Order: sequence, then C-alpha cells, then structure tokens
Amino acid sequence: MIQPKRPIQRIACVGEVMIELIAKPDGSARLGVAGDTFNTAVYLARALRGTDISTSYVTALGTDPYSDRIMAEVKSHGLNDALIERRDGAMPGLYAIDTDAAGERSFSYWRSASAARQMFSGTGLTLNALNAFDLVYLSGISVAILPPPVRAAILDWADEFRATGGTLSYDSNHRPRLWEDAATARAASEQMWRRTDIALPSADDEQDLFGDPNADAVAHRLRGWGVRFGALKRGPDGPLDLSAQHRFTPPNDAVTVVDTTAAGDSFNAAYLAAIARGEDGARAMADGHALACRVIGAPGAILPD
Ligand code: ADP
Repeated sequence: MIQPKRPIQRIACVGEVMIELIAKPDGSARLGVAGDTFNTAVYLARALRGTDISTSYVTALGTDPYSDRIMAEVKSHGLNDALIERRDGAMPGLYAIDTDAAGERSFSYWRSASAARQMFSGTGLTLNALNAFDLVYLSGISVAILPPPVRAAILDWADEFRATGGTLSYDSNHRPRLWEDAATARAASEQMWRRTDIALPSADDEQDLFGDPNADAVAHRLRGWGVRFGALKRGPDGPLDLSAQHRFTPPNDAVTVVDTTAAGDSFNAAYLAAIARGEDGARAMADGHALACRVIGAPGAILPD
C-alpha cells in the first residue's frame, strides 16, 4: 500500500470550474456549476466530512456575478476557498448541455478566455502556495488550459513538492480539443505520470491519447514510467490496481446507467478519501467503484447531498 510521505491533513484540487447551462426543449435553461476537478473536490469534501482532513478548491475566477455564483457554490459544499484567485476583468468558462429527442447529449464550450487559464500567471496565486497541502490533485484538463510556460513550471513545482513530502495525484482526463495537438498532449501527460504518486487514469482516455491496444497495455506503459500506485478505471469492468497487489471484482448488483457524467471524477474522490483516511488500495477501489455506480445512476455530475 502507499505510505504517504506525511499524513494527509490538507487536500487541494486544482483546475477549472465553469458555469453549466442545461438547455431544456422549451428554450429555457437551468444554471449549474461544474468541472472535473471541482466535481472531485465536492465528493472529497463529502467523503471526509466529520474527519479533520480539509479539502480546498484552487482556481482563478473573475469578479463578475457568475464568479460570485461559483464562489457561493464552492462554499456551500464546505470547500476551503482561500486559494481561489479573483481577477478583475476576467470571467469563468461556460458550457451548455443539450439533449436531443433520442436522449443523446451534446456539449458546447465557451472557455477559451476563462479566468482559470490565467491561474499561476502574473502576480496573484503562485504554485508555491500549493506547498501548504499534503495531497494535491490535478487533471489533464487543469494542465491543458494553462500556457506552456506555466505547464513547465508545474513540472518543476511537482518535483520540489514531492521531494519535500507532498503527495501528487493525477488523472489525464484527456480532452483533445483543449490541446494544441496530440503530440503536445502526450508529452505533457507523460511528464505528469512520471511525477504522480497516486495515478487515477481512465483506460479509454489513455488509449485515445497513446493508442494502447487495451487496459493491460495502459497499465504496463504507466508502470514503465514509474507509476507504482493508483487505479486504472475501466468503466463497467471496474478498476485495475496499478500496484498489482489487489484484485477488484465488481459486485454483481445491477448498475443502472442514467448519466455517466462525473463517473471518473467521483471515483477519484472516494478513492483519495479512503487513502487520506489511511485505508489500503483495495478499500479505496471499492469505495471509488461504489460511489461512481451511484453517480451514474442519477442525472448530472453532483448527487443531492
Ligand atoms: P471516466 O468517467 O473517467 O471515463 P470510467 O468510465 O472508467 O471513467 O468510469 C469510472 C468508474 O465508474 C469505473 O472505474 C467504474 O468503477 C465506474 N463505472 C463506470 N461505468 C460503469 C458501468 N457501466 N457499470 C459499473 N460501473 C461503472
């Protein structure tokens, strides 16, 4: 099992949280707040409620009313917001979910000028501020939205953070449209995997990006890059233990799939919460799978509390 280099008391999830528009057939829409690392932070805070482990969300927002709305949502989930930077003149990203007559969902994004893209650039929030945490969780989306010099600075920061006892967790969450090209995404992802203590990849994302023929080949490649701990998510097949110490067999209970949004994000949260509480990889996988199965059984990213 993983021995975190120091006990995990403070966790940070770093990335982009957006305004979500859920379009309805009558032309109206409902507003929400979501984003991969934010979803993970929300489920982490829930899973760790009643413990003395805190969860922070780290991003950049603007000073507009929609950023205020996101701040209110962050607080309402019990997340620490001390490292959310507010930048004058910037605004959060936005995405819309449309559902066609056959129930097929499509996503439209307005995020290319979002405040989160300015995170760690300029005078506000610095990467060194993340040294205050014991566990930092990032995704490939968090990295993809940042300019190349900041991506490079993250690698240097990660080396120092880990050398001084911090634990880094990563999920590549590959979104091709956020990257300049596939070669850049592959190079950035490899650099992150080589610095990851708790790896939480999805087989389908990794296969899309690296062309591995199957999940076992993904695990083999990641182990070759030094990944020693974590879980490879394989949809209905359940997670594969990257430390090769435990075997997880999904329970036989029927899983009703209503909406797979945030399956991986919620899995990561329950997995990391278990590790933070001192559980082993077997328990972490079981907790991750159980939460992900509940999340895909209901519409939307965040289950009612
Ligand atoms: P992502 O959402 O990151 O692509 P997956 O689709 O692999 O990740 O799903 C994450 C986790 O959710 C899986 O490891 C598994 O535990 C659970 N899961 C996803 N789809 C199903 C399903 N159809 N049946 C049971 N569990 C599922």
